[in-house]
Amino acid sequence: MKILDEAGFAVHMVGGGGMGVSHQTDSHTYILDAGGEYALIDAGSGIKPEMIRKNLERDGIDPARISTILLTHSHWDHARGCAFWRQATGAKVAAHEDAVETLEKTLWSDLHLAQHGIGASETKVDTRLRDGSRVKVGKLELEVLHSHGHSPDSICLFTSFGSHRILFSGDTVFAEGGHGTVSADTDFKKYRASVKRLVQYNATALLPGHRQFVLADGNEHVKLLDKKMSGRWTDVVATRVPFFPTWWLEHNPALYDDARESAALTGAPLASK
Ligand SMILES: [Zn+2]
Repeated sequence: MKILDEAGFAVHMVGGGGMGVSHQTDSHTYILDAGGEYALIDAGSGIKPEMIRKNLERDGIDPARISTILLTHSHWDHARGCAFWRQATGAKVAAHEDAVETLEKTLWSDLHLAQHGIGASETKVDTRLRDGSRVKVGKLELEVLHSHGHSPDSICLFTSFGSHRILFSGDTVFAEGGHGTVSADTDFKKYRASVKRLVQYNATALLPGHRQFVLADGNEHVKLLDKKMSGRWTDVVATRVPFFPTWWLEHNPALYDDARESAALTGAPLASK
């Protein structure tokens, strides 16, 4: 579905498990229409990718015109589908340089699918990004903001067209000041600094990896998280949300059957544990 449209450019949401747009295990996936040439922002879980393909069709997007697949980080619900989409579109894959090993060797060690013997296909990363990198797609350019926090390889992507200032925030910032999964390994000082910097971009549209997207006053949502992270520890952790794709797998074994079916179709090898 088209969610932003101005000056010959657009953003479509084509995947998102939490919003019922594609398979339950998918992160949000967006298409940036840069004037007839497209970028796919995040690739989803790779389980039933045909659901995303249907959404592309419905929106009149020719997958062959997707020139770039941008990954906000290497977590499986965003990146496991990358192998499928790289092959299906011939697009170049771009991710933070710290995400490369996970993607090229499918190192999703904590992945529930792997524990059930369901493998994943590796994908090559064509472009290694770092903070300040710029990615050209058609007539638009995206600025890469390394946002260490939710994961060490997280990036946010900023672009603008017409009156829109657009922040693809991955799992770094969610609407209403939400944040991605954190653990004992999280570097909270770096996470806080990442969020603080994002405030400077004064985004109108906040397009995150989960939960609802925000089309106006997006920066108010970023500021909420900045404020929360600058306060007491309990303000942060008390609002932690479950990591939905994993939660769903844990509560609905039928989703493993979807994964097995998709792995068989794409010839993904069995996981070695
Ligand atoms: Zn994540």
